[in-house]
Amino acid sequence: MSFTEDLEYPQILIHYQNGFLISKVMFAACELGVFDLLKESEELLSSKAIAEQLGSSHYGMERLLDACVGLKLLRVEMKKEGAFYGNTEISSLYLTKSSPRSQYHNLMYYSKTIYLCWHYLTEAVREGKNQYERAFGISSKDTFEALYRSEEEMIKFMYGLNAVWSICGRDVIAAFDLSPFTVIYDLGGGAGALAQECVSQYPHCTVTILDLPKVVETAKKHFVSSEEHRITFCEGDFFKDSIPEADLYILARILHDWADEKCVQLLTKVQKSCKVGGGVLLVETLLNEDKTGPLESQLYSINMLVQTEGKERTSTEYISLLTAAGFKEVEIKKTGKLYNAILGRK
Ligand code: SAM
Repeated sequence: MSFTEDLEYPQILIHYQNGFLISKVMFAACELGVFDLLKESEELLSSKAIAEQLGSSHYGMERLLDACVGLKLLRVEMKKEGAFYGNTEISSLYLTKSSPRSQYHNLMYYSKTIYLCWHYLTEAVREGKNQYERAFGISSKDTFEALYRSEEEMIKFMYGLNAVWSICGRDVIAAFDLSPFTVIYDLGGGAGALAQECVSQYPHCTVTILDLPKVVETAKKHFVSSEEHRITFCEGDFFKDSIPEADLYILARILHDWADEKCVQLLTKVQKSCKVGGGVLLVETLLNEDKTGPLESQLYSINMLVQTEGKERTSTEYISLLTAAGFKEVEIKKTGKLYNAILGRK
């Protein structure tokens, strides 16, 4: 969207002011199942039929559908009986639950968890810390204890994080030729979407997902098929337990959760366990060195403030962390999407 800088009519500010209204329209339509119903029905439906089938009021549904049309998430056809709605290509591909590229779970995590933390952004900036106590009435001393405050919340988090790899995973795993690395550990590998991408791109590697015990248990139960023999699991705490030897360690969206000191502590442990000639692959969003953007990364950095102990960083900052831990020949590949690949070698 482009805006002219008209000081008489501050269109850009009106758009920003309405930003959260836009998010909420998309979240509510997902949550109510609008896109799923329209995909299943394979024909355009009236607002009355949609409201009836989804068990909502017609009064509210009609307005939600019209806003989705304005957002180009739905298309509308005017017939003599009234308005009929259908999915646009983008909503069918990304907003329906059954699509392999579905972002549904990610959007639900935004709507039900992240949105509540952002309610206290002013307080987070004032205090310089995450807002779990205010948003959910729970202690924020241990970030992942707070994030995993119930099994349901942990599963939502895992589904939400996994979703983005259906649109960015291939690029980050293909950014470098990882074929020389056969024994790979995905530290904090969560629900395993990146591990799956790795074994499908590199036929000779095995990937072990090392994560907290309850995450490993859930990943085995809900996410990674036991028939996938090239993915194994290791329960552990990467700060407290020893890290097994490997050719390559993947740390995807791990360092952004932690302050510099903890990142260097973790990377130093990884460097010590890494085979000579091996390496570490960081997968993170990257801030521009001159602070001009990208806007998504700047917003994600605020999200790290309201939710974690960490922040998003520039390429130079990641190079410093890797160098401080003893890694050499650090290379960076930008994918042009949200997440990038940074390879350091031992
Ligand atoms: N790598 C996954 C991805 O990008 O989708 C998950 C990233 S998530 C932001 C951080 C992951 O680190 C979670 O799976 C979490 O359980 C794991 N984690 C956090 N603290 C950990 C610890 N002390 N030891 C092992 N894993 C940990």
